[in-house]
Amino acid sequence: MSNFDELLAAVPTGLWIDGKQSDATGGRTFAVRNPATGEVLAEVADASADDALRALDSAHRVQREWAATAPRQRAEILRAAWQLVTDRAEDFALLMTLEMGKAVAESRSEVAYGAEFLRWFSEEAPRIQGRYTTAPSGNGRILVTKAPVGPCLAITPWNFPLAMGTRKIGPALAAGCTMIVKPAEDTPLTMLLLAQVFADAGLPEGVLSVLPTADAGGVSGPLLADPRLRKVTFTGSTRVGKLLIEQSAGQVLRTSMELGGNAPFVVFDDADLDAAVDGAMAAKMRNGGEACTAANRLIVANAVREEFTAKLTERIAALTVGPGYDEGTQIGPLINEKQRTSVATLVDEAVAAGARVRTGGRPLDGPGWFYEPTVLDNVPGDARIVAQEIFGPVAAITGFDTEEQAIDAANATEFGLAAYIYTRSLDRSLRVADALESGMVGVNRGVISDPAAPFGGVKQSGLGVEGGTEGIEEYLETKYVALPL
Ligand code: ADP
Repeated sequence: MSNFDELLAAVPTGLWIDGKQSDATGGRTFAVRNPATGEVLAEVADASADDALRALDSAHRVQREWAATAPRQRAEILRAAWQLVTDRAEDFALLMTLEMGKAVAESRSEVAYGAEFLRWFSEEAPRIQGRYTTAPSGNGRILVTKAPVGPCLAITPWNFPLAMGTRKIGPALAAGCTMIVKPAEDTPLTMLLLAQVFADAGLPEGVLSVLPTADAGGVSGPLLADPRLRKVTFTGSTRVGKLLIEQSAGQVLRTSMELGGNAPFVVFDDADLDAAVDGAMAAKMRNGGEACTAANRLIVANAVREEFTAKLTERIAALTVGPGYDEGTQIGPLINEKQRTSVATLVDEAVAAGARVRTGGRPLDGPGWFYEPTVLDNVPGDARIVAQEIFGPVAAITGFDTEEQAIDAANATEFGLAAYIYTRSLDRSLRVADALESGMVGVNRGVISDPAAPFGGVKQSGLGVEGGTEGIEEYLETKYVALPL
């Protein structure tokens, strides 16, 4: 544990306001725990409404100056932050594994992915474009410019403690916005370390604040009601997203919402089955299944269903479960007791309704929030496990006969984030990708996230996209200047 202790001692545990740590009002703290053991890792400052307004004071104070910096200067700071995160990749990876539980190999991937948003948006900062044209009537000139939205609040989830922050911070800073981040209460340490890295990279004081709190609503409520805040960007559950959209109405805030998913993973009878099994392993088991893009419903052509299920079961049964920091581990614990109970209840209900357990199906004894990697076959179409996000290492398989049935089943959800299809037919790939009500479609690929691509959902999966050349638009206002000819 000694290198862990050394690492934890080096991570800030105060609120991050004005480029430095400070205590929460009244010195309040809350405990951050290791989900593999239940032990306390750190006591972290617990922000109050007063602290939130203190952070907004500084975000608002420096907003105009930050917006006026040269795009190249903002780019250089983001690039320096990318370099520093990359240099400290192992610290970030271990820290994420300690507070979130995922296998350290997955944490390393997340560091590379998360850091890349900083590099990508460092490259976008100097490329913010407007336009200029003559009015069609010939009696005026049209100048269109882009301006930063203003101070933003980012509320991030625990499943990707670094990347869900950098995906918002990167474009916000590149656009010239200041930002207050409210990280998830289970995983605030990664974001605090990132704040320190930004200070080391030369980010001016006040541009980025981090407010850990055990009372998310108590911190976000006063910020959303304050006219100085101009935007909220959120990744988390659809339930909380709806609440934040409602609360954004008061000040008519810009909103970006990355909400829940219920991804279908459709395997057609002409698919390369070994590739489909590889893809399903990635789409289902990456991050222990705790991803909004996770394959939630494996919808498999009945002609190949038994063969696919048998191969997948063999692979899933062979996964090594354990603390994320043990090098051989492939599946770590779930984030907390509530999440494990939720997964267990979904499985138990599905089994009671007729699903067949091919492997797993139970929580593991002992300390930590472990759940057996599980495959369920014959899952009834009306089971809750196919209607809502599982967020755990459980593959739920149903069958279909015709392409139309597969599309109908895939779209039979109020969510529309990611979808996956496996087929050897190019025609079918394009036809089905068009027909799926989904913001993102993976064709013969189980992992689709890429900082250079727009990530976002339709229906109740959200509003707006993150990443790609599109992502920075979420942080820019369009202004039209009318000029005489
Ligand atoms: P999950 O159920 O996966 O934990 P949540 O949507 O509850 O997802 O959490 C995502 C983020 O939203 C976290 O940072 C959490 O603290 C925050 N959050 C939860 N409830 C609220 C709320 N009422 N107002 C603002 N933020 C909230």
